Amino acid sequence: MEQIGIGLNAKDVERDELEVDVLLVGAGPANLACAIRLQQLLKEKGIEDKTILVLDKAEEVGHHTLSGAVMNPKGIAELYPDWRSNGFPIESEMKGDAAVVLWGEEKHTKLEGMFVPPQFKNHGNVIVSLNKVVRWLKDQAEEAGCEVYPGFAAAHVLVDGSRVLGVQTRDTGIAKDGSLKPSFEPGMNIKADITVMGEGVRGSLAKHLIKHCKLDAGKNPQVYGTGIKELWEVPEERGKEMLGQVLHTGGYPLGTEGYGGSWIYGLPDNKISLGFVVGLDHSDARLDPHALFVRWKQHPFVQGLLKGGKVVRYGAKAVPEGGYFAMPRLFGDGFVMVGDTAGFMNASTLKGIHLGIKSGLLAAESIAEAIAAGDSSAAKLESYQTAFESSWAKDELYKVRNYRQAFEGGLATGMLEVGAQMVSGGRGFVARRRGHADHSTTGSPQESKMEKPKYDDSSSMDKLTDVYWSGAIHEEDQPAHLIITDPSVCITRCPEEYGNPCQHFCPAQVYEWTEESKDDGVMINFSNCVHCKTCDIADPYQIIEWVVPEGGGGPKYVDM
Ligand code: SF4
Repeated sequence: MEQIGIGLNAKDVERDELEVDVLLVGAGPANLACAIRLQQLLKEKGIEDKTILVLDKAEEVGHHTLSGAVMNPKGIAELYPDWRSNGFPIESEMKGDAAVVLWGEEKHTKLEGMFVPPQFKNHGNVIVSLNKVVRWLKDQAEEAGCEVYPGFAAAHVLVDGSRVLGVQTRDTGIAKDGSLKPSFEPGMNIKADITVMGEGVRGSLAKHLIKHCKLDAGKNPQVYGTGIKELWEVPEERGKEMLGQVLHTGGYPLGTEGYGGSWIYGLPDNKISLGFVVGLDHSDARLDPHALFVRWKQHPFVQGLLKGGKVVRYGAKAVPEGGYFAMPRLFGDGFVMVGDTAGFMNASTLKGIHLGIKSGLLAAESIAEAIAAGDSSAAKLESYQTAFESSWAKDELYKVRNYRQAFEGGLATGMLEVGAQMVSGGRGFVARRRGHADHSTTGSPQESKMEKPKYDDSSSMDKLTDVYWSGAIHEEDQPAHLIITDPSVCITRCPEEYGNPCQHFCPAQVYEWTEESKDDGVMINFSNCVHCKTCDIADPYQIIEWVVPEGGGGPKYVDM
């Protein structure tokens, strides 16, 4: 048995072993939907003695889950046709949608009714808190007979050649200097006939498994955006007006360079969800998603909505935007991949919850068949990929297969290409746009135009203030879970070639370069980390490895 993935676990210690039938890594919507449907299907087949275990690195299910979120109900309605009457947590029905173009620092134009671009129309969708959704799904999974263990971070994939055998969980009680504390508890080897990788975006295990099994052979590079989100409480009158409203903005502060935009959703109790997503293929070496978010909030249109309000939560998360051609092979010997981990996201509408749930349901069908046949080989689990290829999820993703890559050349060419895609069933001017990995697009720091905001009013929080609102906390006496595999590059090459972009792109001020410390390399304030994965994706040398910290560490998102 070998283990793959860079981890911080102690070597040569004895570990307990636990055997289950199906192990699901991550308690997001895709994995929880998969676990529930699997129990339903096994019961239908008269198979009642199987153990289905879901692990999650957060202290409580939902604490590491963040989304906008407007949800297309197609996925949940397949799992629970009576979802509305069954207690599924909805924040609000969608009551009105609009697209807003922000022209520079002052002006805007609001597009409503027939003028709203098709990808921003949300008729039939509902506003949810994904945080609440996964907590509800967790209750359903436990009621169905699944076991859900939060606080257990999966640190390595256990393999025998290309067969996945399970995972090793993260040790606890390793001190900063690598010594074992008296409280040391070795992680367990959890073995399973089938492992479902649903770790979320840029899964730290999936990344290595994809490489190990060459699951991305012939695929486009996955590309990502980083989304920054805050929850605000606003004055009652505005809160009432905003309830159920869905707004998206484009333009300022990105202008015509780079891909991105924002959302503003009206929630109950006078709350507003607002966020800004920027594509990480932006060439600016000082790209700073948090700074863009703050500048966007300073636009008079957004200020008008926030006036008199206060922030109550903060978070950040990368989103997989590459689409159909960037999805890895979804199966292998003893494993399948679902949800954000496998790229189930429609970048044109910025929606993935329904696709994630659908991926979990399709995977469950294949796993149930595999269990009934006593065969968890890749040949058996291929039925998951086959089912996906003939599903509505594939149809939806295929219609926007070249969407995100069309914007690589900028907004103007992107809009032109998207117009051509809309009249050609998603094809556009070329059959398949290949795209470039985000880390390969960083330009020279001398060409940077990124403006940093002034943090001088009550809506313009700096990164550290925002980290407070994320609830991020990690055990301080442990090795940093951001591993720089070749620290000399940070001192010898990066300052000149890219200007140490980690200090800009991290939305939690984890990476710091100060005049005093610059000769020793970067300072890593790992306990600020909100687990967004931006550094692992955007680092131009690909020498930052985000690995799991001790289980339970990280942000504590509530209602996000
Ligand atoms: Fe995100 Fe990396 Fe910063 Fe953590 S250290 S908040 S994963 S960019």
